[in-house]
Amino acid sequence: MTNFTRDFFIGLSNNKFLNEHARRWGFRFGADKFVAGTTIEDVIHTIRKLNMWGISCTIDNLGEFVSEKAEALKAKEQIIAILEAIYNENLDCHLSVKLTQLGLDIEQEFCVDNMREILDKARQYDVFVNIDMEDYAHYIQTLDVLKALRAKYDNVGTVIQSYLYRTEDDLEELKNVRLRLVKGAYKEREEIAYQTKEEIDREYILIAKKRLLGDAFTSLATHDHHIINELLHFIRENNISKDKFEFQMLYGFRREMQYDIAQKGYNFCTYIPFGNDWFGYFMRRLAERPQNMNLVMKDVFYS
Ligand code: FAD
Repeated sequence: MTNFTRDFFIGLSNNKFLNEHARRWGFRFGADKFVAGTTIEDVIHTIRKLNMWGISCTIDNLGEFVSEKAEALKAKEQIIAILEAIYNENLDCHLSVKLTQLGLDIEQEFCVDNMREILDKARQYDVFVNIDMEDYAHYIQTLDVLKALRAKYDNVGTVIQSYLYRTEDDLEELKNVRLRLVKGAYKEREEIAYQTKEEIDREYILIAKKRLLGDAFTSLATHDHHIINELLHFIRENNISKDKFEFQMLYGFRREMQYDIAQKGYNFCTYIPFGNDWFGYFMRRLAERPQNMNLVMKDVFYS
């Protein structure tokens, strides 16, 4: 994909007007291939099916960059309702949350309070909560919030992005934290992030190997079979125990590969987004993979 096309979709993903209006449109452009419905009931159905295949899940109640306290509080209530559903339905599932959905842009302490309520409930139900990493503008705040929460909770972790130069240095401080490793989905400046696939992949593999040799649990989140194969080779060569890591992919991507990895006895977790706030998430998926545009075309021409 050209940088122009990628930047175009990332630009759309940040567009407030389109994000707000898309909530009222319902799913469009084939977004339903990547978003597991709009209600908790829809998602429970999907998770049950995946659990039957030996795949665990992480749920993301879609939404980000919230600027009103009432909206952030509503999101917190929805997330707590998801926790209740995970517990009541006995699902093999944890939570993924975005701090800007819980008020990070409004006031950091307000966001921390919302997270505390979520983590209290999650601890009661023995559910892990992962904080997604958003764009670099929120990076330092996200690590600050994590640090504040880790003082009281051990059922919380976050995400590291291999495209950031500083990730390797930050690893030391995060060495005891459960982390998800990703390449990074936002457009970041050359001053702070690697720009080429070769550099980002090289860093991903380097960081993954360091984490696999360390003590804390790591979620290796990628659809890149070259990287997965190299890491599987490394895991076997170094006798790394299967309970120290899992592979993760997004809902709707490389389904056969997801089942295949789980069938081989590795821990596998599918990231399941749901809700009406699908636009920003879906645009970032288009930015990553031009082939996803085929779905958009089919939807436009055949619906
Ligand atoms: P890419 O670099 O997109 O693809 C590499 C190669 O893999 C491709 O060239 C192709 O050969 C193959 N490939 C990829 N997809 C397919 C496919 N569908 N079918 C066939 N071949 C394919 N980003 C963040 O910034 N913050 C987060 O919190 C975050 N959470 C994430 C959670 C999960 C579970 C995942 C999987 C990703 C997350 N991301 C997050 C997004 C991530 O940063 C990347 O933008 C995204 O995963 C694309 O990179 P990739 O590693 O999948 O491989």
